[in-house]
Amino acid sequence: MNKQDIKNIKQLLATPKKIIIVPHKNPDGDAIGSTLGLYHYLLKHKHQAKVITPNDYPNFLKWIPGETSILKYDSQTKECDDLIDNADVIFTLDFNALHRTGHMETILEKNDAIKILIDHHQEPHDYAQYVFSDVSMSSTCQMIYHFIDMLGDLSLIDETIATCLYVGIMTDTGSFRFSSTSSTTHRIIADLIEKGANNADIHNHIYDTNSYQRLQLLGCALNNLKVIPEYRTAYISLSQEELNKYNFKKGDTEGVVNYGLSLDNVVLAAIFIEDKQEGIIKISLRSKGNFSVNALSRSHFDGGGHINAAGGRSELSLDDTIKKFISILPSYSNALNYE
Ligand code: 5GP
Ligand code: MN
Repeated sequence: MNKQDIKNIKQLLATPKKIIIVPHKNPDGDAIGSTLGLYHYLLKHKHQAKVITPNDYPNFLKWIPGETSILKYDSQTKECDDLIDNADVIFTLDFNALHRTGHMETILEKNDAIKILIDHHQEPHDYAQYVFSDVSMSSTCQMIYHFIDMLGDLSLIDETIATCLYVGIMTDTGSFRFSSTSSTTHRIIADLIEKGANNADIHNHIYDTNSYQRLQLLGCALNNLKVIPEYRTAYISLSQEELNKYNFKKGDTEGVVNYGLSLDNVVLAAIFIEDKQEGIIKISLRSKGNFSVNALSRSHFDGGGHINAAGGRSELSLDDTIKKFISILPSYSNALNYE
């Protein structure tokens, strides 16, 4: 995003506009934090803003300021279509390609509102008039902070906006431990705390609201953990039957893949989660160092993401998906062993 872009956006936002803000399907902490952070900022400039998510999100995000105003496209389609059709500006946050919004893809694609993309995933598609893409960023929430800064409005960040942005920086950096956490990230976090974000409360809301069944499910996942030492790889599987047994709810498996990566000498971790309703196996991949799970997922599992965190899917059975995964490891032998 160059100076001219910023100037144009400033001019565009100088008078009240109808604005829609959209994150990716199955939104996570960064998706909800960044859309709501931007939403509250735009309200301060008297815009008519609305966050529309493609579908629902986990309960541990259902306390973030402004969350109850969010519309969900899959259950409120007509209302959302009308708003999108009438929008002057559409912000797309925390994703790199319109198909990442699931069923919203068609209406977003044909819509002629001015689109502004803000995202930190690899290889952004070319659909927006204004693109703020930076794969080195810890999170889209950090980018919203920079965006507000570029517009000269840091002083408008209050406790509400600070809380939203803190959420996504915290969740996307694994609580400030991933390598994407820079000194700038910490400076921004310090500023957000000064502006009123309550770090202990936020952490508590996100991480310390487990149900007993969620912990039982985690126990089941850890029991299923397998290690392949020659490829420094660990993987976990969860069948639909196991998910049902522990009354699985959206978000219950979030972060579980990281346990595989916490093993000494493991640089690649995967989790395979059966979803009988969608007829797919949802895959999450994590890595350490230079091993790119973005590349692996793009090549074999119809997905993508970042170098060290990516998602994908498979239409094979759970067993066959795992067999496929194991069968491709030899082709990555060098990269895995010299990482
Ligand atoms: P997760 O494993 O937590 O679902 O996703 C890890 C990262 O990869 C997130 O940043 C997520 O946005 C991204 N991601 C997940 N699934 C996909 C996918 O199917 N395609 C792409 N391009 N990115 C994905
Ligand atoms: Mn993100």
